[in-house]
Amino acid sequence: SEKKEYHINTLITTILALVEHRLKIHKINIRRAFDKQLPPLLVEGNQIQQVILNLVNNSVDALPNGGDLFIKTRMNNAEKSVEIVFEDNGTGIPEKYHKRIFEPFFTTKEQGKGTGLGLSICKDIISAHNGTIRLDNNTDKGTKFIISLPCK
Ligand code: ADP
Ligand code: MG
Repeated sequence: SEKKEYHINTLITTILALVEHRLKIHKINIRRAFDKQLPPLLVEGNQIQQVILNLVNNSVDALPNGGDLFIKTRMNNAEKSVEIVFEDNGTGIPEKYHKRIFEPFFTTKEQGKGTGLGLSICKDIISAHNGTIRLDNNTDKGTKFIISLPCK
């Protein structure tokens, strides 16, 4: 596959349509705040969709009794990048694990429920696009990831 121009809001919307039924079953409420002025990004669309799907799936797992998943897109003018914020009000990640979550095969899920590859794949894909993915610690409840992808 090769890089093409995609609007990040469209890639996210496609994935949300794909998982809509599952989110409903799990009583997960999606809130979106999309910046409609964002420039298109030169990316491998299916790879970025894989990243979005992995993050959504992790939030679903972290919300066994339902809850909120907030997805926001915005421009970072200083860095000339587009940022995607994924914030849920689920179980959160204990601080002792923060350093390890992007390692391949690191999982806190019971046997058979998680491979521990999701975030490591996310990191590889985002790195291959010269971007970054990080866990934001400034949240008292739940989990917040921020992806940054450079504009052309
Ligand atoms: P897996 O989902 O197979 O366990 P991942 O690489 O996707 O592997 O995630 C690694 C670990 O990071 C998870 O097992 C979990 O402990 C933690 N994690 C990731 N996302 C979240 C989230 N949104 N809320 C709580 N914990 C999370
Ligand atoms: Mg996962």
